[in-house]
Amino acid sequence: MKIIPYAKHFISEEDLESVNDVLKSDFLTQGPKIEELEKQFSNYVGSKYSIAVSSGTAALHLCALSLNVNSGDRVLTTPLTFVASANCIKYCGGDVSFIDIDPNTYLMSIDKLLLEIKNKPRGFYKGIVIVNFAGRVNDLSEFRNIADEYDLWIIEDACHSPGGYFLSQNNQKIYAGSGEYSDLTIFSFHPVKHLAGGEGGLITTNDEQLYKRIKKLRTHGITKDSSEFINSTDSAIFSKDINEITYPNWYMEMQELGYNYRISDIHSALILSQLLKADIKLKQRKKIAKKYYDAFNLIPEIIGQSGIIKGHAYHLYVIEAKNRYQLYNFLRENGIYAQIHYYPCHLMPFYRKLGWGEGDLPFVEKYYENCISLPMFPELTIKEQNYVINKIKEFYKS
Ligand SMILES: *Cc1c(COP(=O)(O)O)cnc(C)c1O
Repeated sequence: MKIIPYAKHFISEEDLESVNDVLKSDFLTQGPKIEELEKQFSNYVGSKYSIAVSSGTAALHLCALSLNVNSGDRVLTTPLTFVASANCIKYCGGDVSFIDIDPNTYLMSIDKLLLEIKNKPRGFYKGIVIVNFAGRVNDLSEFRNIADEYDLWIIEDACHSPGGYFLSQNNQKIYAGSGEYSDLTIFSFHPVKHLAGGEGGLITTNDEQLYKRIKKLRTHGITKDSSEFINSTDSAIFSKDINEITYPNWYMEMQELGYNYRISDIHSALILSQLLKADIKLKQRKKIAKKYYDAFNLIPEIIGQSGIIKGHAYHLYVIEAKNRYQLYNFLRENGIYAQIHYYPCHLMPFYRKLGWGEGDLPFVEKYYENCISLPMFPELTIKEQNYVINKIKEFYKS
């Protein structure tokens, strides 16, 4: 039996060539492909700056570091996400507060967020990690207003939504990662995401200070830019045989504790090649979503679904289904490997130990009872999608 997974990457001949070229070149890492990727990605989402890194998780960690998240700092996020969105705050010693979802959008509830912030003294929270769950882009203008009023920064986790957007009040497309309303936005190039890089991640921003800081933190906190040097030329040179007043060529400074979160040229070449087809692939995702929506709209046992939303990037197509557990098993028996996104973060043992538990966030817990992510990837054929739809119909007939 052929297995239909919930997500699947696609590697073209052009992708292979692109990687092959790098393998034959002078640079496997720290070469020209990284900057090329950063430039092209900024073009794609409309940001001033991009910093490519080793993974989406590394991107999140660098964001938290660059925003000076520290021991005891409190940060708000959604429980309906991959754990990394919350963990990046814990890496820096901060505390995570989960805000329940809006059951209609599956995104962080703005009402619940406001209620939580208003009940606390000013300065209680430092920032928000917003997640474009399943590919639906949050209306960041609303979050920005709140953030400005309460002095919060915004990290947008857009791992699910490259190419996605929300519509502004005057009907303008505001792309995820454009940096118009977020301080920092992150993406992932894990193969289940839109652009497969094997591993890889990227941060976009319009803030020059944050951009420079993150570039430094990406590679051990080291800078080679003489305009940033802290040591004076005297103390930097210090070797008695040099009578120069400029910094010697080899000189570089480690100015703060960074990491090796670099991406390689090999990965960058693959992502660059994938980026060329991003628009076509996104259209295919939308087509698949429309077909699911039309098919399930008529089935009463399907009580919610991702739906047809302008700007949705459809990393996932989620339905909320009655007898979800049995449906999941039935599909699996028939070669359809649907998936559950996500077991709520706050119920993970790690976060339970920190005091979270069942009943804390009723909407996401209710959602989790019924949710199931159906096969969603551009190469899903019409025949395969019909098979998935028919199996679901068959399940509810019996
Ligand atoms: C995949 C993902 C991440 C982590 O990305 P990696 O590249 O796997 O480290 C973070 N947040 C969300 C929402 C994701 O889907």
